[in-house]
Amino acid sequence: MGPPGSGKGTQAQHFVETRGWSHLSTGELFRTNLSQGTALGTLARSFMDKGSYVPDEVTIGMVRERLTQIPRATRIIFDGFPRTVPQTAALTSLLAESGRRLEAVVLMEVPREQLLSRLGARVTCAACQTVYSLAVRPPKVPGVCDRCGGVVAGTTRSDESPEIILRRLEVYEEQTAPVASHYDSLGLVRRVDGSGTMSDVTARLAAAFA
Ligand code: ADP
Ligand code: ZN
Repeated sequence: MGPPGSGKGTQAQHFVETRGWSHLSTGELFRTNLSQGTALGTLARSFMDKGSYVPDEVTIGMVRERLTQIPRATRIIFDGFPRTVPQTAALTSLLAESGRRLEAVVLMEVPREQLLSRLGARVTCAACQTVYSLAVRPPKVPGVCDRCGGVVAGTTRSDESPEIILRRLEVYEEQTAPVASHYDSLGLVRRVDGSGTMSDVTARLAAAFA
């Protein structure tokens, strides 16, 4: 677990590749559906583009389906799931149904300022090279340089505009922080400092997984 920009996906990918675990990322599953133009993808997009969560029934159905494809003996890193209290209850039953056990909840913590600068992809004016941070200092008119009116090059994900980034952080606090509290009360949470470089964080996580 961790807020948007905490590095969950990147780090999960690292452990999956080096240890042969399975990666179950709901954000990635939604993006794959989106790029393949499935009905699920179209539905998910309308929520993702606003920075909102996809409805629980849809998300839980997708996770249930994906779980059937992973051999029982394979360890799974859930990335971005569960993100709401109902999803947490669903995970508990899905794991019980498939004879699995929740081993730990790793919570990646990153100061808000760092999240904003990581998420706010830096963009540059093609004409005068002025650098903007979409989260911290966006151009007044999207895509247009304040100084010279030149073209400011865009982002890669449709949910990475500054308003949407702030909204994603807000939704995390509202809906996902309670999930962490729940797991805390069960004594399952391992907190990991997610600040610094990719390899700093990988080393801290390796210790937390031990
Ligand atoms: P991040 O954690 O950086 O926001 P993700 O790739 O995990 O990125 O998620 C991107 C988007 O996909 C979310 O903003 C949300 O709209 C949707 N999403 C991902 N996981 C869930 C989930 N468990 N429940 C509902 N929506 C989800
Ligand atoms: Zn310019």
